[in-house]
Amino acid sequence: MSELQFDVAGAEGPKRYFGALSRESLAHAYLFTGPQGVGKKTFARRLAQSLLCVAPKDGLLGYDGTCSSCAMFSAGENARHPDFIEHDGALKIGESGSAVGFYENDEMTARDVVRMLSMQSYVGGMRILLLGDIDFASPAAANALLKFLEEPPRGVLLLLTTATPGRLLATIRSRLIELRFGLLSKEAVRDILRRRGLSTDDADLGASLGGGSVTRALAVLEGEEESLRAQVARWFFESVAGKVPERPWATRETLDEGLQTVKTLARDWIVAGSGGDGAALVCVDLAPALRELPPLPPARAVELLGKLDDAARLARTNVSAALVGEIARIALTRAGSLTKSA
Ligand SMILES: [Zn+2]
Repeated sequence: MSELQFDVAGAEGPKRYFGALSRESLAHAYLFTGPQGVGKKTFARRLAQSLLCVAPKDGLLGYDGTCSSCAMFSAGENARHPDFIEHDGALKIGESGSAVGFYENDEMTARDVVRMLSMQSYVGGMRILLLGDIDFASPAAANALLKFLEEPPRGVLLLLTTATPGRLLATIRSRLIELRFGLLSKEAVRDILRRRGLSTDDADLGASLGGGSVTRALAVLEGEEESLRAQVARWFFESVAGKVPERPWATRETLDEGLQTVKTLARDWIVAGSGGDGAALVCVDLAPALRELPPLPPARAVELLGKLDDAARLARTNVSAALVGEIARIALTRAGSLTKSA
């Protein structure tokens, strides 16, 4: 038997789950949830590669990396395999009147979907469809997917990923087996950045500021997120001081990442107040400002983190971004004022 690998960082829960399954016990549709940039799609691609790899193996996970099927996965995100189709973002509904239903004009054509859903697989195994960051351009597109989930064709595996599962239709979500992906360790983020060819310095910095997400680490390094992060940081310190910030940052697009930053800052506030040496701070660049904040008593710290968790939960629903931002702001202001009077 050739040496098998399953090269995915973190994701211990999903690894255990799929590791315990056989082809017979594999369901036909899964939903991978969790923050952006923690490897949901990477896991899905490696799972697909494992299932399509022709090397003999005991469980589901693992591929040899050398067979004819694996060769087609060597392009990573641009993998082209006749039995694996990946599509990112909003699904549109076909205008061709195709009974099958869902595809995106540019990348996923009706022909692809028809082949995926009704024809035999290329090599006589499974056909796997990965819909990353799933979203629907219309109710009709969601209904087309629902139809698929109600009567799944044999031999087709559907993998969906999202950072906002609360936005999915309950009728769709209830038909999927949901697996949660947590944040990556700093070491894992550093490792992934190094393997993507970044310098040691950049990988270290990205791992420090990325908060467990490769996507965020890359955004920080490219300077894209600097403005959001800086904006959130200013808002954070103003809120704690009891000022109503002039520029709220929360929009549907920035909410998830912004709340992560708020939570990181809140944790740093707690750490800074506990008299540590500062090495444990995530936002090292903001250490002086964090140390100037009054120390947060443990009970208040727990209350604040709980409220920020509530806000993060609401952020995954259809509650408006502005309202979620307000909830976080009020929690910070309350923590700041209680600290002063304590
Ligand atoms: Zn293989």
